[in-house]
Amino acid sequence: MSEKNYDLLVIGGGINGVGIARDAQGRGLKSMVVEKSDLGSGTSSASTKLIHGGLRYLETYEFRMVAEALSEREVIMKSAPHLVWPLRLVIPHAPGTRPFWMVRLGLYLYDFLGTRKLLPGSKGLDLRQGAKGAPLKDHYTRGFEYSDCWAQDAKLVALNAMDLVQRGGRVRTRTRVVDAKRVENETLWCVTLEDTTSGQREQVLAKALVNAAGPWADFVDSQVVGNNKPTKLRLVRGSHIITRKLYEGDHAYLLQNDDGRVIFVIPYEDGKFSLIGTTDVEHEGQADKVEISSAEIDYLCAAVNGQFNQQISPADVVWTYAGVRPLVEEDGKDASKVSRDYDFNVEGAPGGQAPLVTVLGGKLTAYRELSQDGVDKLEPFLPGMGPHWTRDAVLPGGDIGLDMTAAKQVFADKYSFLPRELGDRLVQSYGSLAYDIVGKATTLADLGLHLGDQIYEVELSHLKEREFVREADDMLWRRSKLGLHLSEATINAIQAWFRG
Ligand code: FAD
Repeated sequence: MSEKNYDLLVIGGGINGVGIARDAQGRGLKSMVVEKSDLGSGTSSASTKLIHGGLRYLETYEFRMVAEALSEREVIMKSAPHLVWPLRLVIPHAPGTRPFWMVRLGLYLYDFLGTRKLLPGSKGLDLRQGAKGAPLKDHYTRGFEYSDCWAQDAKLVALNAMDLVQRGGRVRTRTRVVDAKRVENETLWCVTLEDTTSGQREQVLAKALVNAAGPWADFVDSQVVGNNKPTKLRLVRGSHIITRKLYEGDHAYLLQNDDGRVIFVIPYEDGKFSLIGTTDVEHEGQADKVEISSAEIDYLCAAVNGQFNQQISPADVVWTYAGVRPLVEEDGKDASKVSRDYDFNVEGAPGGQAPLVTVLGGKLTAYRELSQDGVDKLEPFLPGMGPHWTRDAVLPGGDIGLDMTAAKQVFADKYSFLPRELGDRLVQSYGSLAYDIVGKATTLADLGLHLGDQIYEVELSHLKEREFVREADDMLWRRSKLGLHLSEATINAIQAWFRG
């Protein structure tokens, strides 16, 4: 097939778009994903980054969704153990919120609803002693702890895209889909792409189209595809704040807030920072302009101040980010009660009209299953595709093993000339691809230009050539959060290198 003809074209390079294109390519469909900005630059870099069943969704009786998500935790972790790792979460029992027995019952269900071989179960905690109670106010005397996983969300998007390309598929970033119409008796899609840098347009043909534009899915449906009855989405903003670390330890907290919502406090960036979120606010504007409000910052600070000894104010916030959940509209429901489950709109006629599959809702946790289900929806239109394959597949660099401490030691032994902190960071960020990056180097000078701090040209070249990085921010805020750690001079040097 030429570069102009595809079996499947996917609009949107978030976790669901790249996941669907990767799944389809592995099942024999020539696939391309098109992203208007950087990979993962939409909702998929703005999540709380939990790979979780979602304890609170038990309250809305979403048992099937929770069970499926719980079982996905270890599947996703094994696919990229350097980017997805186990997290213990502490729930301080707060008088006046959910009764103790109810939380106990919820955790009992949580332990047994999904498959769990590696993650330990829940248990009760005496918060009057030990490190887990230490940061909390004295009146929190008992609570629980339980397991979930935590993921580098935007990097997971890039790995799925890398895998897609390794399997023969294509990724176009900084390219907007501006028009899609059925041609040739409606049996094919003719899709117009616009390079957002040069403005240059081109057309490609695809047998099937997937709209995985997340919060933009309704806009794509009405303005790009020209659907008369466009998808109706409800945008709910969730914002996070980052402060210097609030406590010692690698455990997180699930705080029950006075308004019934839950707020997570999670160790961030090697435990140097704390991530606090999230809010749930109706988002009135466009999906392109999403920022935390000062009221949300105050809300998150107050949630921490109500339960932690250490008090924080907006002045302690070093970074913020916000994203919108594209939820399927359920009239009259409170934002935090609207289902987080996913669904699809499927249009077209097998053997006739070419299919359009629109992805609705979803969670980072569910992306692999959603992708598999989404490609299944295309089977009547594109018969003969291969079987499911992603459950046991590892992502690029993911064959590093589950024991990251051991993996870092092996790497340090091989490359003893590297500062230990740099070697550890490379293994944690790139898994087994860290070996490709350092290659045959035997001295720091072999790593190319030194841009400052512990950043060398070999890493930037890898990001540019294999991880679709085009601009410094793609590296500093999505493939990593190095933006929080590096000096201004190093950031300037990285920006100049990518402009280069
Ligand atoms: P997106 O990531 O938004 O991707 C859509 C992409 O389409 C964008 O990159 C956009 O640029 C692109 N696009 C749009 N229009 C066009 C066009 N015309 N041409 C080309 N490209 C286009 N889930 C969890 O499992 N765990 C969590 O802890 C969690 N926390 C969350 C916290 C918050 C605050 C939010 C908002 C969500 C959270 N989620 C969580 C949900 C999860 O983040 C989303 O379900 C997921 O990221 C959605 O991915 P997506 O690919 O559908 O959308």
